[in-house]
Amino acid sequence: MRKSPVKLVIAGAGCSGLGVALAAARCGWQVLLIEAQDIASGTSTASTKLIHGGVRYLESALKRLSYADWHLVQEALHERAWMLQSHPALCHPLPILLPTRSPLQKLYYGLGLSLYEKLSSPKNLPKTTWIKKEDLYTLFPSLKAGFSGAWEYWDGQFQDRLYAVHLALFLHQRYAVDIRTRHQVTGIRAYANKVIVQIQPKEGISYEEEADFFVNATGPWIDTLRQRIRPGVPPRLRLSRGSHLVLSRQYLPLESGFLIPKTHDGRVLFVLPWLENTALVGTTDEEAPSPEWNPTVPEKEEAYLRAYLHRYFDLPQDFPIEAAFAGYRPLVATKATPTARIARTHVIEVWPQHRTLHLMGGKWTTFRKMGADAVAAIAQALSLSLPPPEPLSAIVPDLTELETYKTKYPLPIAPNESFTEGEVRFWREKGWAQTPEDIVEGRWQLHLISQKRAQKLLNILKERWETFTLQ
Ligand SMILES: Cc1cc2nc3c(=O)[nH]c(=O)nc-3n(C[C@H](O)[C@H](O)[C@H](O)COP(=O)(O)OP(=O)(O)OC[C@H]3O[C@@H](n4cnc5c(N)ncnc54)[C@H](O)[C@@H]3O)c2cc1C
Repeated sequence: MRKSPVKLVIAGAGCSGLGVALAAARCGWQVLLIEAQDIASGTSTASTKLIHGGVRYLESALKRLSYADWHLVQEALHERAWMLQSHPALCHPLPILLPTRSPLQKLYYGLGLSLYEKLSSPKNLPKTTWIKKEDLYTLFPSLKAGFSGAWEYWDGQFQDRLYAVHLALFLHQRYAVDIRTRHQVTGIRAYANKVIVQIQPKEGISYEEEADFFVNATGPWIDTLRQRIRPGVPPRLRLSRGSHLVLSRQYLPLESGFLIPKTHDGRVLFVLPWLENTALVGTTDEEAPSPEWNPTVPEKEEAYLRAYLHRYFDLPQDFPIEAAFAGYRPLVATKATPTARIARTHVIEVWPQHRTLHLMGGKWTTFRKMGADAVAAIAQALSLSLPPPEPLSAIVPDLTELETYKTKYPLPIAPNESFTEGEVRFWREKGWAQTPEDIVEGRWQLHLISQKRAQKLLNILKERWETFTLQ
C-alpha cells in the first residue's frame, strides 16, 4: 500500500460511509470503517433498489423551480451510468412503464420523460418509447381497465445490501480498508492535531483510535452522534419511514417496472420485478420521530400499499405478502415541509475544531459523489491538495476464495436449498458475518424475498452456528 498522508475513521458502513471510504482509499488515504451492526444493515438495505435520477424529483424541480432538485436529478443520472457499469452482476437496466389515461397525460408525461432522457449523461440506456394499449395489457395482464397506453422509460435496479457487502470486500482487498462490524463509535475528542475516536465493540472493552479526521456517516443516527459530540446542538435531520411489500408474481405478473405516478398524498409508488419471481411494491413516506434499529412495517402502511395495488391491479383480496421491510430516509431539513417534498440532496457539515465531518441526506445512487465531496471537504479543512483519484470503473471483488470454500464444503444448508456450508464459512471468516442474521439477511438477502424461507434458514443456522467454527 502507498504510504498514506491522512488517516480517516468513518462511523457507519451504509452507502454514505462506504462512499467516503471509496473516495478516500482512491486518494491513497488510510481508512478505518466502524459499523455498529452489519454492513448496510440500516437504511441502505431498505431502499427501493432503484439506480435512478428520480422522475418525481424532476417534476418537483420544474413545478417548484427548485435548483436543488434539478441538480440532484442531473447528478444522480450521471452516477446511474457509473453504478450500472460498476458491478453488472448486481446492477442492471430496468424498463419502467408510466401509464396514462388521456392524451393530455400522454403529452405531459412524454415531455417530462424526454427531458429526463436529455439530462442523462452518458446515454447508456435505451430511449423512452410509447407502448400501445394492447401491448400494455399484454405486459401487465392484471392491470385494471381505463389506460390508453404507457411511456416506457429506463432506470437501473440493484441488490443494495449485497452491492454494499461486495463493495466492502473490494475496499478491503484492493486498498486494505480496515472494516470492523459490531463496533460502535461512542464519542470523539480533539487532541493536538488529531481526533481520538472512542469505540465500543459489542463484546469486549472499549478502545480508542487516533486519526486525522473523523467522518460521521451514520445515516438516520447522525444527530445522535452530533449531539453526543456537542450536547445541545440542534438536530439537522427529519426522518421519514419508507415501507415496502414483496409479493409473488404469481399474483401480479410483470416483466418490467410500473410507476403509479400520483397517490392522493402526492407520492409516487413503484411496482418492480424483484428476485426469485417476486414483485416489490413501495414506498410509503411517513415522518418518524427517531430511528429504530430494526424497523418493521406498520399495519397502516401495509394497508396503504395494498389499497393502491388493488386500485390498479386485479388481485385476490388477501394476497399473501412474502416479505416486508422498512427504513428511514435521513432527510436534511428543519422546516415544516412534508417529508415527501424535501430534496434528497446530500449536505456536508464540517466541525473543524472537532476534526469531524457529518455527511447527511443523499441517495444510494449518488453514494460515490457523496463520498468524493466529503473527501474534498476534508482535504480543504486540512489544507491539503488532493491527488487525482485512481481511475476506477468497477468495484467487483475477487470471489475466487468463495468458490474454493464452496468446493471444500459443498453440502447444502438445507434440502432443496442451493446455499452451501462453504458460503457460511466464507462470509464468517472473510466477509464480516458475525451472526446467522448477517448471513441470511446480509449475504443471501432472504428477508427481502421470503420471510418464511429466511426464518427457516435462520433457525437452521442458529442450531448449527457453532459447527461452522472459525479456522
Ligand atoms: C424507503 C426508502 C427507499 C429508498 N429508495 C432509494 C432508491 O431506490 N434509490 C436510491 O438511490 N436511494 C434510495 N433511498 C435513499 C437511500 O437508501 C439512503 O439515502 C441511504 O441508504 C442512506 O445511507 P446511509 O449510509 O446514510 O445510512 P444507513 O444505511 O442507515 O447507514 C448508517 C449506518 O451507520 C451505523 N451506525 C449508526 N450509529 C453508529 C455508530 N455510533 N457507530 C458506528 N456505526 C453506526 C448503522 O448501523 C448503519 O449501518 C431510499 C431510502 C428509503 C428510506
